[in-house]
Amino acid sequence: MYMNSRRDFLQKLGASAIMMQLSSMTASGQSNEPVQQPYKGRVLRVAIMGLGGYGTRVAEAMQACSKVKLVGLISGTPSKIKEWQAKYDIPESNCYNYDNFDQVKSNPNIDAVYVITPNELHHSQVIRVAKAGKHAICEKPMALNAKEGQEMIDACNKANVKLLVGYRMHFEPRTLEVIRMRNAGEFGKIRFFQGQCGFKAGDPTQWRLNKALAGGGALMDIGIYAINGARYMVGEEPNWVTAQETKTDPVKFKEDVDETIQFQLGFPGGAVASCLSSYNINHLDRFFLSGDKGFAEMQPSTGYGPIKGRTHNGEIIQPIVTHQTIQMEQMSGIILDGNRPVVAVDGEEGLKDLKIIEAIYRAVKTGQKVFLKA
Ligand code: NDP
Repeated sequence: MYMNSRRDFLQKLGASAIMMQLSSMTASGQSNEPVQQPYKGRVLRVAIMGLGGYGTRVAEAMQACSKVKLVGLISGTPSKIKEWQAKYDIPESNCYNYDNFDQVKSNPNIDAVYVITPNELHHSQVIRVAKAGKHAICEKPMALNAKEGQEMIDACNKANVKLLVGYRMHFEPRTLEVIRMRNAGEFGKIRFFQGQCGFKAGDPTQWRLNKALAGGGALMDIGIYAINGARYMVGEEPNWVTAQETKTDPVKFKEDVDETIQFQLGFPGGAVASCLSSYNINHLDRFFLSGDKGFAEMQPSTGYGPIKGRTHNGEIIQPIVTHQTIQMEQMSGIILDGNRPVVAVDGEEGLKDLKIIEAIYRAVKTGQKVFLKA
């Protein structure tokens, strides 16, 4: 029922019209003016690299976009290419594999490549995309560590292309409403954030449980939402980290593949965050922000939605959107028009999370408080 009404809503309006509606929403969620103009501007032509679970979701969501079009495919699986070509009407000349995708350089019909492969591959693939002169959108975590992240940023700067990270929550209307309220001082001085992110990881053979491909365990994959969320909810960068790990299944979660980590972040303004990242706890998708004058509570807070939230003022009312549709629509504006999002989604933003991830792993290993450079 919900899926149908959401799809109908998207199809009726077109995503750019939704964005225009979002910008004309009042705090109470009422639209002042109905805006339904067809989009006539430039369209970002995107190739997806990695036709897996999330790539499939992004491709479907992009169908409702007006400022973005899926025009190319990069995959190691020829049968998927055939299937996707038929489904999305993609010409043979825009299809590549992992060996030959550097040739995208001479393809004038592709503007950007969205890298949606296992974490370990992001670094080399984004650098190759940059060298081919195309904008890169990269899934989270942007890389396995901060050194790699910095190299990706440098490669994109050198090639004069944009690097964006797939932080879909940065465009989600209820999340943005909490950020707006915080910026307006409606919560007063922020004192505390709690971020709980996790699920039970299934198949023990999946790449997410392979240190080489994933770079770690739950923290790289799902705990990163609590890290990123702490930063955008508190609105500051943490300056210290403490962390503790719990492992109940060392067979499934091998060395350096974290099952559950509890971590704490301290912020310059005095706020603290208490977070939980787990591959062994279901229904863990909750944010809580507390300030001197009010609070926000979101559950679900980072899942595909609908995101639900309430504050000291009552339920947060905002349109329900498909995260990936809004993300891609907004990313088109960032890449083509130089728009600035409310919460950054660039390489520097991805790098900040990687530095905190490294600090958390170091805190787990040493048992010490780890200080982060400003
Ligand atoms: P999947 O395993 O479902 O898909 C990954 C795809 O990458 C594969 O289908 C394959 O596509 C390609 N691939 C290339 N090399 C390998 C390899 N060595 N092993 C496995 N796959 C390979 O993963 P997801 O789609 O769930 O995740 C991909 C990325 O997206 C990750 O970085 C993840 O963190 C991120 N993600 C982000 C989400 C978000 O909400 N922002 C949600 C889910 C994932 P092909 O056959 O076409 O080559």
